[in-house]
Amino acid sequence: MARINDNYPKLPVSYLFSEIARRVEAYKQSTPNADIIRLGIGDVTRPLVPSVVKALHDAVDEQAVAATFRGYGPEQGYDFLRNIVIENDFIPRGIKLEADEIFIGDGAKSDIGNFGDILSVNSTVALTDPVYPVYVDTNVMAGRGGDSVDGRWSSIEYLPCTAKNNFVPELPTSSAEIIYLCYPNNPTGTTLTRERLKTWVDYARSSEALILFDAAYEAFITEDDIPHSIYEIEGAKEVAVEFRSFSKTAGFTGLRCGYTVVPKSLQCKTLSGEKVSLNRLWNRRQTTKFNGTAYVVQRAAEAVYSPQGRKEVRDNIAYYLQNAEIIRSGLQRLGLNVYGGISAPYIWLQTPDGISSWNFFDRLLTECNVVGTPGVGFGPSGEGFLRLSAFGDQERVREAMQRIENWKI
Ligand SMILES: *Cc1c(COP(=O)(O)O)cnc(C)c1O
Repeated sequence: MARINDNYPKLPVSYLFSEIARRVEAYKQSTPNADIIRLGIGDVTRPLVPSVVKALHDAVDEQAVAATFRGYGPEQGYDFLRNIVIENDFIPRGIKLEADEIFIGDGAKSDIGNFGDILSVNSTVALTDPVYPVYVDTNVMAGRGGDSVDGRWSSIEYLPCTAKNNFVPELPTSSAEIIYLCYPNNPTGTTLTRERLKTWVDYARSSEALILFDAAYEAFITEDDIPHSIYEIEGAKEVAVEFRSFSKTAGFTGLRCGYTVVPKSLQCKTLSGEKVSLNRLWNRRQTTKFNGTAYVVQRAAEAVYSPQGRKEVRDNIAYYLQNAEIIRSGLQRLGLNVYGGISAPYIWLQTPDGISSWNFFDRLLTECNVVGTPGVGFGPSGEGFLRLSAFGDQERVREAMQRIENWKI
């Protein structure tokens, strides 16, 4: 009989979102008339912008005619998209990249998960806590997690991000070889300054670690001293891969498109110590296991960079950031400790009086009919916090905040 990958049964069943759904459902059963507002979602709600919709229609028409039909495209993405990405996302920030350092994919989640394919299963991993669960689970699947002990994986170094360190993680104390950073951060909504990010790049250079930098929320940055790309930091091209996504930037969560930057100067070593280009390995992996993102979707992504597309997308982001401000200022008026929400669509709320994440979730659900996401679901250091998302409808966000402000916590 074939053997399974024995790392999979080590993973707990996806507890967080199923448990939230279960509790919301149970409450709805007991209180059928409750008008529930969901501020827990990590998905956008605004529709695709007109420029993107037009590009989709045009590309579909091209696919309908033999003369312009396109079958398999380059696994790494079409040059029209790779080039416009470089011209818009990197050149204006003083970053020089070549088209073959950009790999167009079907979203950041798959690229982040798949990137582990080209790294040793014996590499050690460090990640911030709380964290996007994809980083943890994909490493456990690959065999880099060790064993689960009290909600932590024994082979992974957790770097706590708490109110005490203002959500700025300390450098690893283990000799972690792979480091995951996500800024602006999901779930805390906090950022790293240029100076802070530089300490990470310097650390990775001196300890020969690899940084996997998730910049999915780059478009939400409103503050001047926050880097949009890790390559704004000198020397980062030798130590970092960057993941970008059109999901939150342009509402592509259903359409699916993102890209991964793997600079040609980035190297890791073989067991015998020989240096190998990660760009070459990733290209090898993609050409074997991936057949490209849909042509029509890449044309839609291209339209995000047209002058009109950029304006339309910026308006949507401004809408979400306004939601974030409504949530943040409302909670602050109540005297609560809130973090994030300035350069990110997430607000990280410290529960009052040290109530547990799940207790606070339950009270918010049953007393205000508002759904958040318990912070502890993102890692042990998330205990005592709740994440609120700014991706909802603005009227509903206002209604939710009114209920919370009238609430006797
Ligand atoms: C939403 C999100 C992504 C984007 O995922 P896609 O697969 O591109 O939709 C990546 N990283 C984080 C932390 C996210 O929250």
